[in-house]
Amino acid sequence: MTRLLIVGPPGAGKGTQSARLAERYSIPAIATGDIFRQNVKDETPLGLKVASIMAAGDYVPDDLTNQLVSDRLEQPDAVNGFILDGYPRTLEQIHFLDALLAAQGESLDAAILLVAEKEEVVARLRKRALELGRADDTEAAIRHRQDVFLQETAPLIPVYRDMGLLIEVDGLGEIDDVSDRIEQALLERDIQPAA
Ligand code: ADP
Repeated sequence: MTRLLIVGPPGAGKGTQSARLAERYSIPAIATGDIFRQNVKDETPLGLKVASIMAAGDYVPDDLTNQLVSDRLEQPDAVNGFILDGYPRTLEQIHFLDALLAAQGESLDAAILLVAEKEEVVARLRKRALELGRADDTEAAIRHRQDVFLQETAPLIPVYRDMGLLIEVDGLGEIDDVSDRIEQALLERDIQPAA
């Protein structure tokens, strides 16, 4: 039963690393951005509401995001653990998640911060823009998402630190090396993969 989250600027590699952790710890990786993007693609009522917000690189309102996560965490595969990727991103979301878990007598085990400097992540996102063509990987939206991260989400980092949950990992270098760093840091906290 491992409950993790991964936080870091857009382009830090959260999706890549959380997919690996999901496999290693036998837990689902829950990426709010992916779920929103699927809704946009399927043109669901939620997708229609959030499409233009996402394309601009702004955050979806907290009430919609919190509801989405609370529904997702009720699915059977998430009952025994999960890794959240891209959530919480605001102080209100942190408090919502905290209360949601506490109501079930649960809590997070660790918050992994992937550290990467701005110029590096912007370069990665430019490259991804060419490969994937995501609606929010335009130059303006890339820059804007970095600013929104600094303004809205960076303030969460001291909160996790105060909660004793923060694990800071250097997100630069080879993907395997970053994975090794994360795994080492988790083991140091006695957070063990599923047998
Ligand atoms: P990135 O980390 O590259 O910004 P994500 O896939 O995590 O990409 O998120 C894409 C977009 O989805 C965000 O810019 C935002 O519009 C929306 N989104 C994802 N997660 C959240 C969240 N927790 N709160 C608000 N909006 C979110």
